[in-house]
Amino acid sequence: MHELALAQSILEICEEEARKRQAGAIHKIKLRLGDFSGVVREALEFSFDALKVETLAAGAGLEIERVPLEVRCPRCGQVSSPPASDLCFVCTECGSPVDITSGRELQVEYIEVE
Ligand SMILES: [Zn+2]
Repeated sequence: MHELALAQSILEICEEEARKRQAGAIHKIKLRLGDFSGVVREALEFSFDALKVETLAAGAGLEIERVPLEVRCPRCGQVSSPPASDLCFVCTECGSPVDITSGRELQVEYIEVE
């Protein structure tokens, strides 16, 4: 499962950060997760809960902020937010292929430690 590996690396990043701050425990982890990241949120949460037990984040809550998909047309500059399930992205104004400007994120925004 893809999400298991992701949860593992998120925990590693957070533990490293906690150690840098000489913290004994992680209280909260805040993530930004794009609608177009290909990550199943429920599977990520499940994996996180299963893996955190042996880490500094054993008691940590996971807060996930959704980042909607946003695309921009390089030709006419129109910005829009098509549904992430819409896999063929062309500009609704001029028909050019568009660039994805946000929605692919999977990043740790911050952690709270003690
Ligand atoms: Zn356009």
